[in-house]
Amino acid sequence: MTELNFLCTKCRKGFDCDVGKIAFPIEENRPRFEKDIVCPRCGVLTMDDVELTELGQTQLGEIFMAELE
Ligand SMILES: [Zn+2]
Repeated sequence: MTELNFLCTKCRKGFDCDVGKIAFPIEENRPRFEKDIVCPRCGVLTMDDVELTELGQTQLGEIFMAELE
């Protein structure tokens, strides 16, 4: 289980979401998540509806580095 901290751009609230496995396709400039991103208030969101918070970016960076090893 992989939790990332997101900011929902619809309700402007932060939340933690379990995104499952994370893939980093070279041809895309954004990671791909196994599970949907679900805002506790707005429901299922796409990557266009959310931003990674500073904490979320740090978490994602650590996962990316771990993938490389
Ligand atoms: Zn929301």
